[in-house]
Amino acid sequence: SKRNQNEPEFMQAVHEVAETVIPFIEKNKKYQNAMLLERMVEPERVIMFRVPWIDDEGKTQINRGFRIQMNSAIGPYKGGLRFHPTVNLSVLKFLAFEQVFKNSLTTLPMGGGKGGSDFDPKGKSDNEVMRFCQSFMTELQRHIGADTDVPAGDIGVGGREIGYLFGQYKRLRNEFTGILTGKGLSYGGSLIRPEATGYGNVYFAQNMLEVKGDSLMGKTVVVSGSGNVAQYAAEKATQLGAKVVTMSDSGGYILDEAGIDAAKLQFIMTLKNEKRGRISEYVAEYPSAKYFEGKTPWATPCDVALPCATQNELHEEDAMILVENGCKLVGEGANMPTTPEAIEVFQKAKVLFSPGKASNAGGVATSGLEMSQNSMRYSWTAEDVDKKLHEIMKNIHDACVAYGTDEDGHVDYVKGANIAGFVKVADAMLAQGVV
Ligand code: NDP
Repeated sequence: SKRNQNEPEFMQAVHEVAETVIPFIEKNKKYQNAMLLERMVEPERVIMFRVPWIDDEGKTQINRGFRIQMNSAIGPYKGGLRFHPTVNLSVLKFLAFEQVFKNSLTTLPMGGGKGGSDFDPKGKSDNEVMRFCQSFMTELQRHIGADTDVPAGDIGVGGREIGYLFGQYKRLRNEFTGILTGKGLSYGGSLIRPEATGYGNVYFAQNMLEVKGDSLMGKTVVVSGSGNVAQYAAEKATQLGAKVVTMSDSGGYILDEAGIDAAKLQFIMTLKNEKRGRISEYVAEYPSAKYFEGKTPWATPCDVALPCATQNELHEEDAMILVENGCKLVGEGANMPTTPEAIEVFQKAKVLFSPGKASNAGGVATSGLEMSQNSMRYSWTAEDVDKKLHEIMKNIHDACVAYGTDEDGHVDYVKGANIAGFVKVADAMLAQGVV
């Protein structure tokens, strides 16, 4: 671990997994002496590259591009691309590491990877974004492929960016294959892929509540973020009878005590996806709502909290307030949004807590379904895909219960997800020898 000391996010993600997986290895002879976890923390390959592009003023700009090919034991590398100024090696290695376990949990044959750039799409014109994407793909294309590595979207990479990236790949390689997921419907995308991460997170929450004989009906839900994951988590929670009262962005959060219903959510979707505006603009449209500049929504009384923005956005103090306010369930939609200290607060209070690698796996699972449809040159209906998504989230939930139930009957979903994710990858690595 000395090797990774200057990579705090990566160390944090590895630590969380090691805490639960090492005791499991110690009890299971077959996983000993093969340096499995030690191999899993070393990426199979890291690619770093220059991304030069020309802005609208004619000035040359330079960004740094990355692809972490973490583990291919159970399938081609698979994981998103993130475009955000905070992107660096540590952040992408943490995301790639999480992705290995998450993809394993989906039961689909996908290895783990992650990539992206410190490029900031905010405030850039469509043409600038396109030129950046074309330059990024000009290098990335030699490292990916439908049977090698299949990137997708993440923070700052949505339908627009995937379209530009796909167009450039096709132009350079003269081949139309499923080398990216999250594509538009007209060129090989899957129905329900945009919705899948947020919907899946809510399906997972529903599964957790069901164990307790409860449901989302009538629950007050606090959501953070207002991007892809947050939007569809809010949509599904509302459809299932809950009242979503907050959404946020990096500027602050809005509180709408009457609930963000379907019409209000449509306003947010247009604001964010088309106008690329700020969440603060919500209160001009709905004056009974309030905007809190520079704040996160965790002090809002609620039954359920769904952090769907970014890593380390929910701290120990926030967790204490949530518990004090009677919050019963925290379902991670983002990757590692909850700090280790905050997770401990939830675990101690026996709050139902699902780690992102389990509860946000619906996105990559549906990306896996997009890959299958591309290979078959076929597309399934929205009902088909949603049904499969439901089944996959239920399977992940049940795997967490199988590996994570403590002696007192409490389900430790962190432990369950880590061990269940580890087992499949470890078995495949053992079978393939020291590689
Ligand atoms: P988007 O770019 O669509 O949205 C991100 C949202 O989070 C925006 O509201 C953004 O606000 C906010 N945000 C981003 N960075 C920060 C920050 N540093 N501080 C505060 N707020 C921030 O991304 P997604 O919805 O796709 O991703 C959200 C999370 O879900 C990420 O952790 C991602 O890794 C995870 N995830 C996504 C999947 C997917 O399918 N898209 C799959 C699995 C996990 P602003 O607009 O101000 O930047």
